[in-house]
Amino acid sequence: MDHTGIHHVTAIAGPASRNLDFYRHTLGMRLVKKTVNFDDPTTYHLYFGDETGQPGSILTFFPWEHAAAGRVGIGETQETAFRIPQASLGFWTHRLLSAGIAHETPFQRFGETVLAMKDPDGMRISLVALAGIENEPGWSDEEVPAEHAIRGLHGISLLLEDTGPTAAIVTDVLGFREMDREGTLTRYVAEEAGVGRYVDLHHAGGFLRGRSGRGTVHHVAFRADEEGQARMARRLTEEHGIPTTEQKDRAYFRSVYFREPGGVLFEIATDDPGFAIDEPADALGTALKLPKGLEPHRAEIEKVLPPLG
Ligand code: ZN
Repeated sequence: MDHTGIHHVTAIAGPASRNLDFYRHTLGMRLVKKTVNFDDPTTYHLYFGDETGQPGSILTFFPWEHAAAGRVGIGETQETAFRIPQASLGFWTHRLLSAGIAHETPFQRFGETVLAMKDPDGMRISLVALAGIENEPGWSDEEVPAEHAIRGLHGISLLLEDTGPTAAIVTDVLGFREMDREGTLTRYVAEEAGVGRYVDLHHAGGFLRGRSGRGTVHHVAFRADEEGQARMARRLTEEHGIPTTEQKDRAYFRSVYFREPGGVLFEIATDDPGFAIDEPADALGTALKLPKGLEPHRAEIEKVLPPLG
């Protein structure tokens, strides 16, 4: 069973062109889908990932030109971490310096070297240097050579008042198991997952609650196949008393959503059908794609979307 781990992370950004520039050029990720927020089609929904946009490689954004700044706090995602090959740490440190991206001195966490920074909207992301992943394929279009490319998501950390109730959902429903503890962090692993395999719960009683906005994560999605998703939804409702939404068709996956007990919005997304459903794999992200229901409104939608530069 490889349908475990994190599927994608979705966050809120400021101006779309700045967001695109940072993730595509500075970090060298592939824009694998350019579409709109299905619930607000005057806004882009940009998907960044690896060459194919495999589940576990995806970070997506709703960029709003004038979004108010959010505040990271209790009940929110504190950091989104990506995997890089161990030998690429020097490349990335140098790259961030020369691009003028403020970052922290690399530090150790759970025995791994972490290079943490903020994106242009103030969202905390990190590159985690890992041994043995250099032979995994890396996407490259121009500036970041394939050998140094990001190899998908490493994991996320959640800032919580009390980690117990969230841990129960992560382990009992989402298929993770407790792996390690360090200070106020507890790490959970989805053992069968290659990418997106870690969830760190950060016990931080007494912090302010988070406030959604620019620079904050909107939700975290976990992987499942169709049956697994139904099973998880049933388990949430029947054994944990947590209601889920009905299944929503997100064109590239099918999703149910629920609020976990610590306050973070979680999604369970299917691997199917993936990003090559409406454009060829070698042209991912090049054209504005709209779901069928919005296609008749393409002209109006294109008129209000800001230029991506
Ligand atoms: Zn999502």
